[in-house]
Amino acid sequence: MNDADLRKHTVSGEGIRHYIDLDRYSPSLDTLHSWFPIGYDEAIQHWSEDSLHAHGIGPWHASSTYRRLIGAFDRKNEAAILRLAVDLAHYISDLHVPLHTSGNYDGKQAAQNGIHALWETQLPEAFMADYNLFPTGPQALWIERPDDLIWQSVLESHACLDSVFSFEQQTRASFEGQRIDAYVERGRVRQLMRSPAFAAHYHAALDGQVERRMAAACHRVSSLWYSAWIEAGAPALDVQAPAARTGWKKVVDWLIK
Ligand SMILES: [Zn+2]
Repeated sequence: MNDADLRKHTVSGEGIRHYIDLDRYSPSLDTLHSWFPIGYDEAIQHWSEDSLHAHGIGPWHASSTYRRLIGAFDRKNEAAILRLAVDLAHYISDLHVPLHTSGNYDGKQAAQNGIHALWETQLPEAFMADYNLFPTGPQALWIERPDDLIWQSVLESHACLDSVFSFEQQTRASFEGQRIDAYVERGRVRQLMRSPAFAAHYHAALDGQVERRMAAACHRVSSLWYSAWIEAGAPALDVQAPAARTGWKKVVDWLIK
């Protein structure tokens, strides 16, 4: 998820698959809801491919990755299933991060730089132990319209941005006169991030938002994996195959659940 650096240096290619700057399309959530979902070919007619690429193609790429996963299940191609299942999980998870739906993805427009790593890295690292990522149990659901689910996820993320930005501003205001950043230990490196006190204040203000977005991502990823397998005709998967002992078995375990 941490592609803030990547996207700075990437005009096209992998970087643009991880986000969509919805605010470059319209400032109005109602308008966005009336325009999306839209198929990629139709979107090109409206905005041109250059323009789509300039603002990120996350939802469309997640959709095409899902369809390729169906093909991999259909061919029972273990290596492709694993690779595409992991890719799909990555793209879907990224689209559940509110800041992956905004041109203001690191808060620079209002001097809130660093908010990207704060929301998607520092807060989960500090508070994940308290999260329940499967509040409705581990059951994967059959998804009849995957594109609708993908765009629903993206538009939900976008609707979170108001809180993401405004609570950070409010937290700043309540820390007036104090330092808001600090060197934080991350594994073996020390990195300048928001101070732990600032992160805790902001996390409390968000009132479970990070946890809810992560739980939604987990449920939808597992449901899309399951649905791709169903779409391929629910092929029997040989979990005993030698190449399968680690990652492959994890995918199958997900499906069985
Ligand atoms: Zn990110």
